Amino acid sequence: MPEQGEIRLFFEKHSIMIKRIAHIGIAVKDLNTAQSTFETLLNLSPSHVERVEEQKVDVSSFHVDDTNLELTAGISEDSPISKFIEKRGEGIHHMAFEVDDINAELERLKAAGVRLIDEQPRMGADNFLVAFIHPKSAGGVLVEICQKAG
Ligand code: ZN
Repeated sequence: MPEQGEIRLFFEKHSIMIKRIAHIGIAVKDLNTAQSTFETLLNLSPSHVERVEEQKVDVSSFHVDDTNLELTAGISEDSPISKFIEKRGEGIHHMAFEVDDINAELERLKAAGVRLIDEQPRMGADNFLVAFIHPKSAGGVLVEICQKAG
């Protein structure tokens, strides 16, 4: 642990694989309500609205600078988002980092002993391949890595 007033600098020694924070996922009960809340808050309209059947969610994205806020609502009781809200209420659900090569990143993380939820990438919203890392291996935060498909 650093002492009071001490500043430690860390230098990148690996090739940079993370390009940006692609989005912050927010779990909401009702997409229309949350959408109008964020329209007022950000003074923006959503840039993208989509149903992702594979994850049983409806997503409404607000583009802010080079990242997105993704409001995500479950479309059925067994949607991971519905289960999340049932347990923990509405709020920040996950952070997504865009990477150059999702398969290489998954291999690297696996080799580093990181606990993965998805060993293989799957299709997410907005034509992205996505894979989730377990919060137990990420400081209690659900982390997604993603890569633009095709
Ligand atoms: Zn996401």
